[in-house]
Parts: sequence; C-alpha cells; structure tokens
Amino acid sequence: MLLNRFYCTRCAISFKTFFARLQHIYDSPYHHICYICFPPQDFAKMVELDEHLGTEHNYCISCDIQFETAQNLAQHDIGEHNMCVTCRQFFGSRSSLSNHMTTHI
Ligand SMILES: [Zn+2]
Ligand SMILES: [Zn+2]
Ligand SMILES: [Zn+2]
Ligand SMILES: [Zn+2]
Repeated sequence: MLLNRFYCTRCAISFKTFFARLQHIYDSPYHHICYICFPPQDFAKMVELDEHLGTEHNYCISCDIQFETAQNLAQHDIGEHNMCVTCRQFFGSRSSLSNHMTTHI
C-alpha cells in the first residue's frame, strides 16, 4: 500500500515523503537516534539512548567525548561527574559523593 510507505510505527503517523518522516524523527520527543551506529539506531527513550551510548560506544553525552575503552569512560565519569563506582550513580558535587561513599563502608 503506497499510502503507508513513510509510516512511523512508533507514533502511528504516515508521511507523504521520506524527508517528512525524517524531519519527524528529528523533531519528535519519541525518537532518540544513535548516529554512531550504522545504520543509526532509534530509541524510544532518552535514557535508553544514554545507556546505549555508554555501554556500546564508551561515550559521555554531557561532554560529547568518545573514549577508547569502557575503563577510560569509567575513569572520566569518576573524575569529572562524581560517579560512584559501586552503584554507578552520579552526584552533583564531590562532597555529596563522599557523603554517599560512607553508605558503602
Ligand atoms: Zn515517530
Ligand atoms: Zn549506537
Ligand atoms: Zn563527561
Ligand atoms: Zn554508591
């Protein structure tokens, strides 16, 4: 059926052209694309894309840096983003991280 050629299954909308559909994916809050992947992968939630970038590409989304290894990313997260290594939670400041660390002792 020609009418559904440019159909977005996730949002249940059909588009007239390929580019209209592409524009929709750019604008929509229901599509989060990983452009590092080929072909690009589409995630429904921002958190899913976040996690994918971290685990698959060793990528820090807030700094826009890609790391060689998961180890390098973890080191960056600990140093720059006050990450707790034990539960992989992020803290706003070094002091709230050290406060939190006392719960692991
Ligand atoms: Zn859509
Ligand atoms: Zn990816
Ligand atoms: Zn970072
Ligand atoms: Zn922790």
